[in-house]
Amino acid sequence: MTVDSQAPLTEALGTDFFSVRRRFTEAQWDTFMAVRRYVDHVVTPAAPEAWDAAEMSWDVIRGLPDLGIVGDDISGYGCPGHDPLTCGLVAMELARGDGSLATFFAVQSGLAMKAVDMLGSEEQKQEFLPAMARLDLVGAFGLTEPDHGSDSVALETTARRDGDDWVLDGRKRWIGNGSIAGRTVVWARDVETRAVLGFLVDTSTPGYEGTIIPRKASMRAVWQADVRLDGVRVPERDRLPGAESFKDAGRVLATTRGTCAWMALGAATAGYDAALRYLLDRHQFGRPLARNQIVQERLVKMLAELTGMQLYCMQIAQLAEDSDLAPTIAGLAKMNNTRKARWILGEARDLLGGNGILLDNHVMRHMADIESIHTFEGTETVQTLIVGREITGYSAFT
Ligand SMILES: Cc1cc2nc3c(=O)[nH]c(=O)nc-3n(C[C@H](O)[C@H](O)[C@H](O)COP(=O)(O)OP(=O)(O)OC[C@H]3O[C@@H](n4cnc5c(N)ncnc54)[C@H](O)[C@@H]3O)c2cc1C
Repeated sequence: MTVDSQAPLTEALGTDFFSVRRRFTEAQWDTFMAVRRYVDHVVTPAAPEAWDAAEMSWDVIRGLPDLGIVGDDISGYGCPGHDPLTCGLVAMELARGDGSLATFFAVQSGLAMKAVDMLGSEEQKQEFLPAMARLDLVGAFGLTEPDHGSDSVALETTARRDGDDWVLDGRKRWIGNGSIAGRTVVWARDVETRAVLGFLVDTSTPGYEGTIIPRKASMRAVWQADVRLDGVRVPERDRLPGAESFKDAGRVLATTRGTCAWMALGAATAGYDAALRYLLDRHQFGRPLARNQIVQERLVKMLAELTGMQLYCMQIAQLAEDSDLAPTIAGLAKMNNTRKARWILGEARDLLGGNGILLDNHVMRHMADIESIHTFEGTETVQTLIVGREITGYSAFT
């Protein structure tokens, strides 16, 4: 593959050394290329300024419904009903451009909409999913609490039945879109049965307050919130009937864990592509940096890891297609890919020299953003412990 070293650093090189893309169907190519064009021409150019200002790119976000991607694999209700590979490619491309945008999308199209689709009543699906697919209604997913992250199974937010309503009290932390959503899926413990239930909380209800967490150094262009729930009244009709225990929250998270592996692949691809293009163009000691053996070795090691990440992603898509994607397999893919992406982005940053720390060169931002992907939806360590339990039969964390 010949690389045009004069093209902008942001443009995709189409890195696919093992030709995994040969397996794409025409429909998969169409969606992939439509999202890729949007990312190259709209998402990536807007990303540095939004990241620097810690503002969400609303103009860019508003273009997502026209791509026909919001709602991922949900069928009906105005959603695209994409196959798992297409969903993965969308997540990868959005993250290749902007991790913050990909995170907004993962909360809306993944966590919030999937909670409604998997656990909601028919009436709830009809009421909320079409509006969410159009982005007329923004959703959030409130599981993590100030004192319960990895052990969110021990969540302390309470739900007390009062006539036809429930009354919610507690605190949530790190809730993506929690300050801007119209509805937040809140996970709370029934004070009587101790079971964990899920509620589609109307955020305009008195007692709900979402405050943006300030001064983040990662995913700056998407807002997470501290959420206070002080006596928030939720009608029984807004309880998710399929959410009967913590396992149901886990079922939603299991579907989106693979998405994190694809997002890590997108971020790492951005770093590799930028480094290769830069090293072909940049001259030191009278020749392109790419002519140095050490530089080539570093690029090839990056490519080897990137190719491995692609193979992980292709296989989790295939297993999901076969309805056979175990949470531990998705967890291993997330663990592997975020770890490799961190390394690739660190290499890319160094290979761009001083220019590597400039936001306009699109590496440092991904390097900061991968830290969040590494942590959210189950940290690298927690995924490791879950896989460790499966292969040894011993739980090291309960
Ligand atoms: C940008 C961002 C967006 C997020 N979006 C959402 C959202 O939309 N909704 C939501 O509900 N949550 C969200 N989260 C929360 C996220 O899921 C948690 O941050 C994550 O689960 C880790 O929890 P914690 O931060 O409390 O870390 P902790 O659980 O306190 O972990 C701290 C460290 O201890 C390690 N550790 C934990 N337990 C063990 C153990 N048993 N053995 C060894 N090591 C251990 C962890 O791996 C980690 O390294 C978001 C977080 C971030 C950063």
